[in-house]
Amino acid sequence: MQFDNTYARLPGHFHAKVKPAGSPNPRLLAWNEPLAEALGMGDLGSDPARLAQLFGGNELLPGSEPIALAYAGHQFGNFVPQLGDGRALLLGELVSKTDGRRYDVQLKGSGQTPYSRNGDGRSAIGPVIREYLLSEAMHRMGVPTTRALAAVATGEHVRRDGMLPGGVLTRIASSHVRVGTFEYFAVRQDIKALKALVDYAIARHSPEALEADSPPVAFFAAVVGKQAKLVSHWLDIGFIHGVMNTDNMAISGETIDYGPCAFMDEFDYQKVFSSIDRYGRYAYGQQPSIAQWNLARLAECLMRLGIDKEAFEAELEKFEGLFHQDYLGRMAAKLGLLSVESGDATLVNEWLQHLQDNALDYTLSFRQLANRIDDDTEPKFGDIELRWKARVRQQDESPTQLKVRMNAVNPLFIPRNHQVERAIDAAISGDLSIFNELRRVLQQPFTEQPGFAAYAEPPRPDERVYQTFCGT
Ligand code: AMP
Ligand code: MG
Repeated sequence: MQFDNTYARLPGHFHAKVKPAGSPNPRLLAWNEPLAEALGMGDLGSDPARLAQLFGGNELLPGSEPIALAYAGHQFGNFVPQLGDGRALLLGELVSKTDGRRYDVQLKGSGQTPYSRNGDGRSAIGPVIREYLLSEAMHRMGVPTTRALAAVATGEHVRRDGMLPGGVLTRIASSHVRVGTFEYFAVRQDIKALKALVDYAIARHSPEALEADSPPVAFFAAVVGKQAKLVSHWLDIGFIHGVMNTDNMAISGETIDYGPCAFMDEFDYQKVFSSIDRYGRYAYGQQPSIAQWNLARLAECLMRLGIDKEAFEAELEKFEGLFHQDYLGRMAAKLGLLSVESGDATLVNEWLQHLQDNALDYTLSFRQLANRIDDDTEPKFGDIELRWKARVRQQDESPTQLKVRMNAVNPLFIPRNHQVERAIDAAISGDLSIFNELRRVLQQPFTEQPGFAAYAEPPRPDERVYQTFCGT
């Protein structure tokens, strides 16, 4: 294991050097062995007690230089000039043996930093388990995302609604540079720092932008493209991030900061779970336009480097087209279409409208639709099912082939809220069996797994989860 610390080498006001507070009685809840191997951490071994010391913050990983990162951000539309890692520490960077890329290793819930404001710098184990399950499930569904390396119970209680056991999540990310990082320096009119950040971001995420006439514009264009695809993928799988503030949008294009996020059960464009999102700013169907809004804030920062506004506007305007193209391609594939023809956008919209009007389960409906291809008994999905059949039967393939293709892009297992809540409740009382079972099932989201069918089921009325909480 060979740590680099390139972010720590950036000027001093980019971060603060802080040591993790440590855990009085750390206990390993989860360890992502394949990910550890890929990052060259195999030499840490697999002794749970030692891993708990390391990832509970009691012992520093050799070569790491922990820092809290400074950033600002628009939270629910309001600008906050000073945020920063209030409960997280970047330990350093490792280069993956698998893909040759550089990854940040970060402890989340590791204690106070100069950016904690009134927070305790801690996390309860609920959010740790939620982020572990959701980020790893997203990865298995092919969505760009931060990953979970380790989860540790600290042995200490944190005060939330009541007293709850504390936890630390170790997160792996392509970087922790956010839109809010640019805002931090832009609002301070610290052009020198802004320039250094842009150079850093380009070197790390968009080296090809250096060949362009204007590297900052090319960098911006790359971020626009990545975000358009990311949000399209979120809609594809029914994911609602919940807090798409600019400080929670990574310029790498990875899903980051799993707070009150959730997968929806029955389809609803206006679906909101987060208890703090009272006006539905970050509702399921709002996510594309919010991503574009956040990108406009990034453009405003980059303009301060003395580049014409028009160049950024031209790139920002491409967002919608990029999003729609990707989204339509994804939805067409979900419906088993081999190509996108005229009329297919209407088919997609009417299918989704049917799900919405009948409050049908988003995830299962696609799997059930696939099974309708060789079943000509009374349609389950009404008229839209007949139109879909007419469309896919024009394609030259067997019903089995169609089903195989559809099932390869329509997950059967998603981290459903009621199951995540069950896993959290059990873990709080010391039982990790549901968490472990869910972790296992979600490793193969597209594959039927005998004995685990219950995890694919939507909640019963008494199991429904109406709200999710940041809980940090
Ligand atoms: P987020 O929930 O990621 O959007 O957090 C927004 C800001 O609040 C970030 O600057 C976090 O570091 C900070 N924050 C959240 N929870 C805590 C906590 N328990 N202690 C200190 N800072 C926190
Ligand atoms: Mg955040």
